[in-house]
Amino acid sequence: MATTDSSPIVGIDLGTTNSVVAAIVGGRAQVLVEDGEPLLPSVVALDPASKLIVGQAARNGLAAFPERTIASVKRRMGEDVRLPLGDQEFTPQEISAIILRRLRDRAERELGQPVTRAVITVPAFFDEHQRQATREAGKLAGLTVERIINEPTAATLVYRAGSDAREHLVVYDLGGGTFDVSVVRLEMGVVEVLSSKGDTRLGGDDFDHLLMDYVAREFLGKHGIDLREQARTRWRLIQSCERAKRRLSDEYEVRISEEFIAEANGQPLHLDVRVTRDQYEELIRTLVERTIECVDKALRDANLTLNQIDQLVLVGGSTRTPLVQQRLREEFRREPQRAVDPDLAVALGAATQAAMLNGISVGPVLVDVATHTLGIEVLDRMTFSGPELVFSPILHRNSPLPARFEDSYHTVHEKQQMAEIHVLQGEHRDIHRNRSIGKFKLRLQKPDQGDGQILVRFELTLDGTLRVTAVEQASGASEELRIENALADFQSGQRDDARRRLEAMFDHSDDFQTAGATGGWKSIAGHPQMMDLDDAADENEDERVIDVTHTAPAQPVRIAADSSGEAAEGSDEWDELAEIEQLLERAESLAGKLTGEDAEDIEQLASQLRAALAARDQAQVERLCGELDDILFYVQG
Ligand code: AMP
Repeated sequence: MATTDSSPIVGIDLGTTNSVVAAIVGGRAQVLVEDGEPLLPSVVALDPASKLIVGQAARNGLAAFPERTIASVKRRMGEDVRLPLGDQEFTPQEISAIILRRLRDRAERELGQPVTRAVITVPAFFDEHQRQATREAGKLAGLTVERIINEPTAATLVYRAGSDAREHLVVYDLGGGTFDVSVVRLEMGVVEVLSSKGDTRLGGDDFDHLLMDYVAREFLGKHGIDLREQARTRWRLIQSCERAKRRLSDEYEVRISEEFIAEANGQPLHLDVRVTRDQYEELIRTLVERTIECVDKALRDANLTLNQIDQLVLVGGSTRTPLVQQRLREEFRREPQRAVDPDLAVALGAATQAAMLNGISVGPVLVDVATHTLGIEVLDRMTFSGPELVFSPILHRNSPLPARFEDSYHTVHEKQQMAEIHVLQGEHRDIHRNRSIGKFKLRLQKPDQGDGQILVRFELTLDGTLRVTAVEQASGASEELRIENALADFQSGQRDDARRRLEAMFDHSDDFQTAGATGGWKSIAGHPQMMDLDDAADENEDERVIDVTHTAPAQPVRIAADSSGEAAEGSDEWDELAEIEQLLERAESLAGKLTGEDAEDIEQLASQLRAALAARDQAQVERLCGELDDILFYVQG
């Protein structure tokens, strides 16, 4: 019910690592920033002159003055303790109040008026004591706490405010120090948390420590000095590893370097360690798997199965980790919702709830995202019938824009002279089910040096400009492909595709089946910009082009893009109906060999697909083919 007081109510995410304040500005939920920084580190320090310091400055002093600093106070909320800070002592609610007070000041400055009311979020697993302590902290900060709401509820509101639909969502929240996953039901605009599981001692900080141990071991092996032994050096190292970890979310390889980190025989020693994403992922894999086990438990507690879940929402800074997203994609067989910055989603949801209390109706927070997955063609393996080409995604659908991601591949043949990058857009492992949006070649300068590693980077801007860059690691030689207005073109191109497919499949289905290649399919490649690029790429058909191999150790045989043009020609000849028939045969044969949920899902999708084919429902056929293809991909590994 709306309150009668119409003064602003802010939404506050009082986090273990960082806190955020948001409010409705100009009808939209917005995060309130200070010096361009939306996150306030949840750290409080007391300087020698007994002056309180909050936020980044306090965090910076954590290593040097641990006795003068308090971090992660959220873990202590509800406990009857007094925490020492310098020469004083504080209760957890007092420390939280100091953080809330800073957020309140920030809100008053940004909104230009007094702020006395707030909605504050807490984890779903917080008990009554912990909630009460949070309320008290609010009061101490001079705030009337209008509501305490669950963090997963807030995250749901960000995406679904104002929706009357009945949906089940999983909110996966991996922050700096804690992990929790909640199964949530949304019905008639009401959000209910059905189950919640988690680990209050698992988060991005643990990833930092694992990386630090790895780097410290490398240094120890080389110089015989353990950088973890001295508090200040350890702190420098962990800070450096945290920054490197973030970079590894969109770069394939990083250098962790720190000058003058140690000394031996009067000589300074510098740290310089290279870490690839693959190496990093091996370090954190066990922890990520632990979170996946929690997801399964939460679903069981809610008496739901994976296929009853309509949406997966990502919250918390650590969900930017590619391995986390990859494992969730594999589990849920869908692309997670992450249009909203995962650090900010909870505060934005709290602000949305606050607006509702004030009787203001707000819709979901809308942000531009990539509408399709983008990647390249790679050669998976050689079979008796020739090379098996598959799609290797790099920039995933739903990535907030601007987006920048890269991955690493390597050549198949020694001394290869040329790499061809065939850029595809779509959601299917099968390259033919995706759309070709361009090709370009990279002439290799040092084919006999290194391991033929090629880095492929995708950058998509808010105005839809796509830039794909390929870099030969050994020489630094690079080539790029640029497509202006990629987003708009993709969308209108898609419509054209759908229309042509419909014509080809149903209006002339007899011709289609007997004649094989049709004008309908040929013209699918008729994107004006793509044609130019394709033409350019095909000019030197007889030139010896190379294949590139994906370097991920999990898929050691994955080999990339045979770019000799065979695949493109093959797609012209491709018979859509025969392809669907093959898919159905594969599905039905596999369902016969499997038991349990996967078999049921496959059978159900196959029979829905047959029905859609009979009804000539093009949209359904497309959707079901996609789903069936995906499920087969995952089941077959
Ligand atoms: P939160 O508690 O939600 O603010 O999350 C903070 C955690 O997210 C910290 O461990 C950060 O290091 C981590 N984090 C922030 N950005 C990234 C990123 N780009 N990739 C991986 N982890 C990140």
